[in-house]
Amino acid sequence: MTPRKVCVSPGCCDLAVPGAAHCDFHLDRVKAAQAERKAKAKLGAIAVAGAALYSTERWRRERRLFLDRHPLCVDCAELGAVEVATDVDHITPHRGDRKLFFDRSNWQGLCHRCHSRKTAREVFHAKGG
Ligand SMILES: [Zn+2]
Ligand SMILES: [Zn+2]
Repeated sequence: MTPRKVCVSPGCCDLAVPGAAHCDFHLDRVKAAQAERKAKAKLGAIAVAGAALYSTERWRRERRLFLDRHPLCVDCAELGAVEVATDVDHITPHRGDRKLFFDRSNWQGLCHRCHSRKTAREVFHAKGG
């Protein structure tokens, strides 16, 4: 008879799940950590794809044209304030999607303050689910 192994997690004396290196409890933790790593890698890939789109000549050119035609921040305008738009915001987050990224009906001009506020909100929502 082969003795069952003990969980490899430091300080854990529980028996490992047959065929695994961890006990029940730590196996769950390991799986959760792996899932989190995967989710992070995916987010990282999206960020990389997005950053690549922002560095294209096409984006720089079309963004400038858009701001020429839409020179005011739409968020500030809604509040009755006049603020120069400095950023082109994607109304629906493009998440690296090229089609959504270059879709001008998905663009709006925002001042830097409004854009930062919106971006912060999106990040918060992504985290909170
Ligand atoms: Zn354990
Ligand atoms: Zn604004």
